[in-house]
Amino acid sequence: MKKVDTIIIGQGLAGSLIAFELEKKDKDFLVIDNNHKHASSSVAAGLYNPVVFRKPTLGFNIANVLPFALNKYEEIEALLAERFLYKRPYWKFFENFKTINNWEAKAADQKFKEYIKLPLKKEPINGVENELPYAETKFTGNVDLPLFLSKSRDYFELKKCLVNSKLEEVSYGLEIELKLSSKESLKCNRLILARGHQEGNQSEFAYSSVGSTKGDILIIKCPDLKCDYTLSRGFFILPIGNDSYKVGATYDWEDKSYIPSETAKVELAKRFENLVNLPYEIIKHETGLRPGTIDRRPLIGNHAAHKNLFIFNGLGSKGVLLGPYYANQLVNHIFEERPIDNEVNVERMRKYYGNIED
Ligand SMILES: Cc1cc2nc3c(=O)[nH]c(=O)nc-3n(C[C@H](O)[C@H](O)[C@H](O)COP(=O)(O)OP(=O)(O)OC[C@H]3O[C@@H](n4cnc5c(N)ncnc54)[C@H](O)[C@@H]3O)c2cc1C
Repeated sequence: MKKVDTIIIGQGLAGSLIAFELEKKDKDFLVIDNNHKHASSSVAAGLYNPVVFRKPTLGFNIANVLPFALNKYEEIEALLAERFLYKRPYWKFFENFKTINNWEAKAADQKFKEYIKLPLKKEPINGVENELPYAETKFTGNVDLPLFLSKSRDYFELKKCLVNSKLEEVSYGLEIELKLSSKESLKCNRLILARGHQEGNQSEFAYSSVGSTKGDILIIKCPDLKCDYTLSRGFFILPIGNDSYKVGATYDWEDKSYIPSETAKVELAKRFENLVNLPYEIIKHETGLRPGTIDRRPLIGNHAAHKNLFIFNGLGSKGVLLGPYYANQLVNHIFEERPIDNEVNVERMRKYYGNIED
C-alpha cells in the first residue's frame, strides 16, 4: 500500500492553499478531491473587501489577513504563471441618507478610515440608477477562483500529488489508512480534512458542526454597462470580462439542495434591474454551498482524540481573505508547533457543544 507523509482531502480553495504551503516547506503530500460540482470555491465570485458593509465595520483580523492574502496570491500567480488576482475599485451605493450617516460616523474611526476613500463620490455612472453619493473602499478586488482551482489542479496533477477520487473510509491510528472510491488504499502519517460543506455529513469533527449556506449567483451579459469596477447595493455586480458580469449572491440557510433556486434567480434579476437600466441577458445560473460555523470564524486545528488528524474549514463567505493566512497558520502549527489563534481554533467548539470525549 502506498504511503505518503501528509494527505489533504479536498482541493477547494482551502485544500489548495494548504497544498501550496506544504510544497513551500518541501513536504511529501497528496491531495484527494472528488471534484464536487457545487463546491463553494467553484461557483464563488471570489471578491475581497476589507469592509463589512452591513454594519459597517472592518473584517475579522483584517490587518493581518489582507496583506498576507494579497502576497500569497501573487506568489502563487508567479509559480503557476497565470493571472487570477484582480485589484479593482469597489463602489458601494447607499439605500438612504441614514446609511450614509452611519458610514460617515464610522469614518471618524481612524482604523476604519484607512480602508475607505473620502469624500463620497458623486459622479453619475452610465446606466446606473443612483442619485445618492456613494462610497469607495480601498484594497479591494477579486480572485478568479474557478481559474485558480483549475490551474492549481493541473499543477498538482503534473507533480503527481493529486488523485481524483473520493475518500470513502478511514482507519485511525499512528498511521492512518484511507480507502478511496477509486478502490485505491493509501497510508499516511497525518490527514488534513478540507472538505468544505461536505464536512457536515461526516463524523470526525461532528462536534464542530460545519454548516452550509446555499448561495446562488448569475452570470449576465450587459454590453452597454462598460464597467471595470465592482458595484454593490446589498448585492454585487462583478465584471469578469467579455461584457459579462457575476451578479450575486443570495444567502439561504434552509435549503441544502444543489438545485439552483428560481426564487433566487428572480430576486437577483430584480436587484440588478433596480440598479442598472440597461438591456442584459442571463447566461448562467449557478448554486453552491458555503461552509460556515456558528460564530462565523474559520475552523482550524487538531482533532480531540486523533492527534494526527486536522481540519481546515469554516471559511464562510470570506474564503479569499481568510484562507491564505489561516492555511499558513495551520501548517506552521503542524510542523513547527506554533499556536493557533483562539478565535479560529476548533477547540473553541467545546463551549457550544459541551465537553466531548477525548
Ligand atoms: C455563491 C457564492 C458566492 C461566494 N462569493 C465569495 C466571494 O465573493 N468571496 C469570498 O471570499 N468567498 C465567497 N464565497 C465563499 C467561498 O466560496 C468559500 O469561502 C471557499 O471557497 C470555501 O472553500 P473550501 O475549500 O473550504 O470548500 P469547497 O470549495 O467546498 O471545497 C471542498 C472540496 O473538497 C472536496 N471533497 C469534499 N469531501 C470529499 C471527499 N470525501 N473526498 C474527496 N474530496 C472531497 C470537494 O469536491 C471540494 O472540491 C462564495 C460562495 C458562494 C456559494
